[in-house]
Amino acid sequence: MNSESKGKLSGIGASEGAAVGPVFVHAPGELEPRRKTIAAGEVEAETRRFREAVAKVVANLGETRERLAEAGNEDEAGIFEAHAELAEDPELHEGVEERVKNLESPESAIISVGEEFAAIFAGMGDEYMAARADDVRDVASQIAAELMGHEASGLSTLDTPSVVLARSLAPSDTARVPKGMALAFVTAEGSATSHVSIMARSMGIPAVVGVGQDLEAAFGAQTVAVDGGEGYAIADPDPETVAEFESKRRRIEQERSALDEYRHVEARTAGGTRIEVSANLGSAGEAEDALSWGAEGVGLFRTEFLFMERPELPSEEEQYEVYRGVAEAFGEKPVIIRTLDVGGDKNLPGVDQPEEENPFLGWRGIRMCLDTPALFKPQLRAILRAAAHGNVKMMFPMIVDSGEVREAQAIFDECRRELYEEGVETGAVEVGIMVETPAAVLGAKEIAREVSFFSIGTNDLVQYTLAADRGNERLRRLQSADHPAVLELIGMTCRAAKDAGIWVGVCGEAAADPNLIPKLVQLGVTELSMSAPSIPRAKKVVSEI
Ligand code: PEP
Ligand code: MG
Repeated sequence: MNSESKGKLSGIGASEGAAVGPVFVHAPGELEPRRKTIAAGEVEAETRRFREAVAKVVANLGETRERLAEAGNEDEAGIFEAHAELAEDPELHEGVEERVKNLESPESAIISVGEEFAAIFAGMGDEYMAARADDVRDVASQIAAELMGHEASGLSTLDTPSVVLARSLAPSDTARVPKGMALAFVTAEGSATSHVSIMARSMGIPAVVGVGQDLEAAFGAQTVAVDGGEGYAIADPDPETVAEFESKRRRIEQERSALDEYRHVEARTAGGTRIEVSANLGSAGEAEDALSWGAEGVGLFRTEFLFMERPELPSEEEQYEVYRGVAEAFGEKPVIIRTLDVGGDKNLPGVDQPEEENPFLGWRGIRMCLDTPALFKPQLRAILRAAAHGNVKMMFPMIVDSGEVREAQAIFDECRRELYEEGVETGAVEVGIMVETPAAVLGAKEIAREVSFFSIGTNDLVQYTLAADRGNERLRRLQSADHPAVLELIGMTCRAAKDAGIWVGVCGEAAADPNLIPKLVQLGVTELSMSAPSIPRAKKVVSEI
């Protein structure tokens, strides 16, 4: 056994970087209500106390939000805004006040109602919604803590730079850590899209999540070494491993600052081919950050998160405001809005989705939209209206043939006509598709006649080509686009596009992979879209081709 594997904890690399430091275990006891019941004469006073506690929590969340926004951390600020909204949710209040009327103490009531809400989110069988369940629990426990007159977490007292180990970390936990005191986060729960991961990435703090039960064995360790890129941590590393991680950390830091000069360059290969490097966005709040990383546009705006963040569907007006916000932030730079891609591993509250045996082969993406105009049309109308304020393009996900493209285009044309008749301003919108099924590649020649661009979704193209579920941990070997069959399909897509005179981009994870970028460019890809912090490195790789 080598020194590394002794206390090795494997998880998901959620935020790149390396760190070694003393352990701080964040293990808040389950919040126990002090009293379960109240006396009949106390209902009014206890209801008032509950409302005051909510107001206090909302005020605290507002302060944190402002502090983060002033520091330019818009994403995190957005999380605290959403928490404040949750704390003020009328249904949550109704639930608690009803219980208080039935003589339950408000602290007990908020914990129970928070749990009920969380169970609904968690039961949606979706990673993203499961993370929202944690948000509800977080807000409920803050209100309960306020009612019981104590702080919900000891993290704010951290006064030595440390590696924080926890079963899970809520956004309010991460934000409570004094600046500079968290060297890294390691959590038992969580995925790449959970909030601790989002926050760690934008705070530039290494993080490994989803370590599982094994993490508890490390709670007694003195120090932990963390590699947030590779996704593992080592409890009580020996001096040799510590030295290795220290040099890894220095190397990563040097690499990062050396890449700064590439942020705002126009990427071009040595042979002069211009490659546009754009950002993938999951929310409008990420736009400014993406621009600061050097995004030359948005290559993929995943709109489903806007739909999934809430119990009811967003209206056309709300969608218009969001799309317009991103279009305006990017000015003349292109913003490609992908129409709703739910189904598969993403469920949609507000839409009656059937239980499916094989959701990734099921009622997903464009299939659901074509069958549900009430869902599709408000989005298309919002996109057309937002296009009056910027350089907006649109693409359809999960296309398998030109018939689907024509059908979607017909609905789009109908929306444009309706808006014209209503006298509502619209803008020009180029239409493309995501190439993420082998069928779309095989039909690329025909489909290319219908659209202005192709954007290859390698995450799905890999899973559908290699018959390998993209979320199955055991299939890591089959989850890379660097496979001859996948590269052949990418080449076929590029040739069909070239013949038809349209361009091809890649917006799957492969676009940020330094080993794959040269291959993609050689095959004829001219746009790469990725998570914003990867942009400078991708530009550098392109300039060295
Ligand atoms: C893809 O499939 O590569 C893609 C970019 O879309 P998503 O990851 O949202 O399915
Ligand atoms: Mg996809």
